[in-house]
Formats: sequence, C-alpha cells, structure tokens
Amino acid sequence: MQSGWRIGTLFKIPLFIDPSWFLIVAFLTFQNGSIWQQRYETWTPTMAYGAGFIMALLLFASVLLHELGHSLVAQSKGIDVTSIKLFLFGGVASIEKEPQKPGDMFQVAIAGPLVSVFLWIFCTFIVALLLKYAPTISPVAFVILSSIASLNLTLTLFNLIPGLPLDGGQMLKAAIWKKSGDYLTGAHWAARSGLWLGWIISIVGFSDVLGLTSLLGLPEVVGFWGVLIGWFMRQNAVSADRLTDVQAALLNLDAQSVMTRNYRVFDGHQTLRQFAEEMVLKSDPTVAYFVASDGRYRGLVTADVLQTIERSLWDSTKLEDVAQPLQSIPHVIEKTPLPEVIQQMERSGNDRITVLSPAGAVAGVIDRGDITRAVGEKLGFGISSTLLQQIKTSGDYPPGLQLGRIADSVLEFQGKNAIGVTAEEVKEESA
Ligand SMILES: [Zn+2]
Repeated sequence: MQSGWRIGTLFKIPLFIDPSWFLIVAFLTFQNGSIWQQRYETWTPTMAYGAGFIMALLLFASVLLHELGHSLVAQSKGIDVTSIKLFLFGGVASIEKEPQKPGDMFQVAIAGPLVSVFLWIFCTFIVALLLKYAPTISPVAFVILSSIASLNLTLTLFNLIPGLPLDGGQMLKAAIWKKSGDYLTGAHWAARSGLWLGWIISIVGFSDVLGLTSLLGLPEVVGFWGVLIGWFMRQNAVSADRLTDVQAALLNLDAQSVMTRNYRVFDGHQTLRQFAEEMVLKSDPTVAYFVASDGRYRGLVTADVLQTIERSLWDSTKLEDVAQPLQSIPHVIEKTPLPEVIQQMERSGNDRITVLSPAGAVAGVIDRGDITRAVGEKLGFGISSTLLQQIKTSGDYPPGLQLGRIADSVLEFQGKNAIGVTAEEVKEESA
C-alpha cells in the first residue's frame, strides 16, 4: 500500500515520489527564482529560475540522504526499510517495525539529523574553498551552494524539535522509554509534546501571516508554511497518541474480560441428523457450537461437518464422534493477555478462538467483534451494534483500527515477539 510513483531502488529500498512533491518543487523554483531575480540584477530569468530549480532538486537530494541515514542505521539493527517517499513536507522512511531497544531507536532517529549537519558543514566548506581559490566561478553556483548549506542547517535544527513525528520527538520517546523502562510512557509524552509544539508552530505561523509577528524577518510565506507544518505535526501526533492509547488498552485486557458466552452446547449423543435439522432452522455463523456428553466437553462442531459426512450415515453418527477435540482447535486460557489472544487468532486464520478454563472446559469464545467492543469500551468510545455485527460476519477489524498489527507491536516492544510506525520529517523552506 504505497501511494506515488516508484522511481527506483537504493540499498534495496524502494524509492517513491508523491504527486505533492512536484508541487513543492515548482513552488521552490518559483519562490527562489523570483527572489534571486530581484536580488541579483544581472541575472536573466532563465538563470534565476534555473538556479531555483536546481536548488529544489539539491534540497530533495539532501532530504533523501537524510532519510538514507535513518534507513541504513535501521537496516544495521536488523529492521527492514519498506520505502522512502519524498512528498510535500520532505521525506519519510517507513520501517517495518519499531526498534526493540530505546538505544536502537535513538540511534535510528539521530542518524538523519547527523547526515544533515554533515551536509551543512560540507557545503559551507566547499563554498569557503571556492571563495578562496576560485572566486571568479559562477555566482549562481555560490548562491545555490550557500542556500543548500543553510537549508541543511534548518533541516537539522527543525528535525531536532522534540515532538513526534519529528526526529527529536523520536529521540525524546527513546529517552523517556529508557528512563521509565516503559515504551508506552515514552510514546505518550513524545506524542503530547508533538501536539503542543504543532500548535505553537501553527499559532506563530498564523500570527506571522497576519503580520502580528515576523519570524526572523523572513517573508510571510514562511508563516503560511508554519501553519501547514504545525497542522501536519498535530495530525501525526494525535494518531501516534491514539495508537499508544490502543496499545495500553490491549495490555490491560485479558481473554476473560473480552470473552462472551455466544455459544451453544449440543448433547454428544445426538445424531448428525438431529444436528442437521437444528442447523436448517437456526444456523448462525457468529455462534460457536460445542459438544458435551456425560458431563465432559467433547469438542467443537460446525455446520461444515454435514458436507463431509454422507447423508446415509447421519442417523448412525453421533455428534461426539465427529467433534474436533478442544485441544486441537485454536484456544487460549482465561488469563491470556489480549495481545496474545489476537496474535493467536491471526496466526490460526480462524475468526474465533475458544477460551478454556483451568479444568479444560469451555469458558467462553472470542471473535474480532468482541475484541473491538472491549477495546472501544476501555477507551471510552462506543461502537455501534451494526459495525460490530459487520466485524463479526466479515472477520475483519475496522480499517482505522488494525488490531492485529497493533497487537504485534505491543508484543514486539515487550520483547515477546511489527508495526509500520515511521520515522518522519518535515522540512522547512526558507528563502
Ligand atoms: Zn529524520
């Protein structure tokens, strides 16, 4: 599920360009071209706008190198990088799972700003060398190189702002995780910080647009940019925070607190014929059918059994003879933590899992609808019975709540066992 155009592969990582990237390249070309044309009177429009275009491309080359910094360190930690994408706000490297140790997370996060700071030093050094040994070289080259140098410095400083989804936020998350020993505490505070900083950036940007403040004397467009970037940060921070809420809810639930008694028990001495008659009358795919006889559970039976056994044998076959023993069907015990319940259900490929009591009897059943309802209640939001019914019959979690993946992520940072949380950046443009 990757939007945009794939333009190639670097270090086995697919590179994508989002359509919004063309917008920003056009904007940067025009913005810088017009400023330079005014500032350097001897420049022809072709020179000014050509330089603006080259600068935009070099800026994105810098962003790409920054993303590669994150990606290569992630790869060295054994984490797959699924893609790098360039878009309106810069670049984003998507990794297949989060680092499992705070130290690793910190290193992956800081690698990008380290690349940017290196590019700033490198470009500044080249400009100084040229000034000293080749001062007559094209003025366009100087202007482009010094702009790239300062943009890399901006990129570094901006990304170090300590709020998700910026690198600084990722570093803050790792630091709090390390200090508190709890991943979720780190994730929660880094998301909160991203939300507050996003608001601050938007408000400062907005007052700049209104002419109430002036950001370091930069043009008003920087303020407009601030409003947009602040909005982008808040969106990301809110979804990161929501994710940690869901993760925390999963950790606080177990099989017993989620299971229902949405099952029926048939007498094992009944024949298949009797079972078939009942099924004709009221078969319900969301209900589980168990078989018990002589005070013991004999197993699970489904309507499918009627297709596997010949009709002529229905009168002579007892339900207890065809039931699948409880130990052979997907099951958990009452105390099994919910993330493990979800993972087992996903791995078994079944839409339902049976909960067994310590004595080995059926204590309850759980399907994806039950899990979604329990998580919703824990988080304090109601889920309509229509949606729950839809989840139960389709066997899929709602698109915005991929509990299978979230459960994997919870088990992952608990050291038990992947999630596509991304290391993201926002880049700021300045003229
Ligand atoms: Zn970064």
